[in-house]
Amino acid sequence: MQYRSFGAIDLRPSALGFGAMRLPQLADGVDAPPSPYGRIDVETANAMLRRAVEAGVNYVDTAYPYHDGASERWLGQALRVVARDLCGPGDAGLAELRSRLKVATKLPMWKLESHDDCERYFSEQLERLQLDAVDFYLLHGLRAGSVAKLREYGVLEWAEKALADGRIGHLGFSFHDQYPVFEEVVDATDLWELCQIQYNYMDEEFQAGTRGLEHAASKGLGVIVMEPLRGGRLSRRPPEAVAALWAAANARRAAAGEAPRTPVEWALQWVWSHSDVSFLLSGMSSMEQLEENLACADRVAINVQTEDEIDTYRRVRDVYLAASPIDCTNCRYCLPCPSGVAIPEVLGLYNDAIIYDGGPAAARFAYGWLPEPQRAESCTRCHDCEALCPQQIAIPDWLEKIRAFLAVDE
Ligand code: SF4
Ligand code: SF4
Repeated sequence: MQYRSFGAIDLRPSALGFGAMRLPQLADGVDAPPSPYGRIDVETANAMLRRAVEAGVNYVDTAYPYHDGASERWLGQALRVVARDLCGPGDAGLAELRSRLKVATKLPMWKLESHDDCERYFSEQLERLQLDAVDFYLLHGLRAGSVAKLREYGVLEWAEKALADGRIGHLGFSFHDQYPVFEEVVDATDLWELCQIQYNYMDEEFQAGTRGLEHAASKGLGVIVMEPLRGGRLSRRPPEAVAALWAAANARRAAAGEAPRTPVEWALQWVWSHSDVSFLLSGMSSMEQLEENLACADRVAINVQTEDEIDTYRRVRDVYLAASPIDCTNCRYCLPCPSGVAIPEVLGLYNDAIIYDGGPAAARFAYGWLPEPQRAESCTRCHDCEALCPQQIAIPDWLEKIRAFLAVDE
C-alpha cells in the first residue's frame, strides 16, 4: 500500500480509502433479519473492512444518509468486530484499531433547520458509531447557497467548539457544484483542512474539476477524491469502441513488458497519478472489488502518465462524449433558470444514463440527490433558456423526457 501526503494534516493516508456508501447487500429474496443494519450484508462487510485494514487501508468514510442511516450503525459495530479480531478485545483493542484506522463521517447539511441541529445530528452520529469522537468531520454536499447557510446557522462556530473539545479531529467538506462555488466555499474559512471532490478522467472540467483540485491544494487542504469510477459507471462493461481503445493500450503495455489494466485500473490510476490528490475513496460492494482495488493500489505511480496514456484517456473520453444524445457543453449560458432547474446537471445525468453500461440506475440515484427545485419537474416551459443556448438544444422538451426517465420515487 502506498501512503501519500494529506495537505497540512499530520497523517499519511493510504492511497485507497474505504467508502461505506455501497456496502454489500443481502441478495434479492433473502429476508434481512430484524437489525439496525437494514439490508447490509454485515458479515461480508465486516470481513471486507478487516481485510482492508490488514492490507494497510487507514481511512474509512461514511455519512448520515448512506444506506438510509444503516452505514454509520454498521460501522459502529464493525469497528468493534475488526478491533477484536485484529487488535484484541475491549477498549484497548478498539483504541489500537483507531490508531490504525481513521473514521470520517459527514453532517447532513440539507437537513439543518437551526443552529442546534448541528449538535443534534452530530450527537446522533456519535451514538450510531458508538464513538466519543471522529477523526474527520465533513459538511456534506456543499453547493451554491451553502456558505450563506453556514453563516445563518453558525455551523462553523459550532464546529470550532467541537474541534476545540476534541470531538472532531479535522474539519472539511464534500462538494457537488461548479468551480466558482467551490472557490467560494474553500475561501469561506480557515477551519477547513480537507475537502472531498468528484474527480475522474471524465470529470476534469466538471464540478470542482482540475481547477478545484489545484486551488484546494494551493490552500494546504488535503483533497480526497470520490466517484473515481463515476458511481461505478466507468467500471462496468464499456462500449465496444472504448473496450477496443483499452485493448490497444494494453497491447502496447504488454509490448513494453507491463501488465494489462482493467477498465477499473485505468480509471483509478488516472486519479492516483495526480500528485495533488491525497487519496481516493472507493465504495466497494464485494470482496472481489476490494481485492481488485487493493491490487491496483499497490501499483500506484504519481506524475508518470506517458503521452500514449494521456492520448488513450482523451480518446476514451471522446468516445463517451460522442455517444451523448444531448450536445450540452456545460457552458452554462442558460442559467439561471427562473424556476431553479439545474439545466446542465440534469441534461448531463441523462447523457450518463444513456452512454454508460448500468447508467440508468446510477443516474437515477444521482438525480435523487439533487434538491427538488433543481430537478426537471420544476420546469414551467417558459423557454427562456432555449434562446440562450448556443447549441440550440430544445431544453424544455428534453426536460420533459428526462422527467419521465429519471423520475424519483419519494
Ligand atoms: S446553454 Fe446549452 S450547452 Fe450550455 S449548459 Fe445550457 S443547455 Fe448546455
Ligand atoms: S424552460 Fe424550463 S428550464 Fe428553461 S428557463 Fe424555463 S423553466 Fe427553466
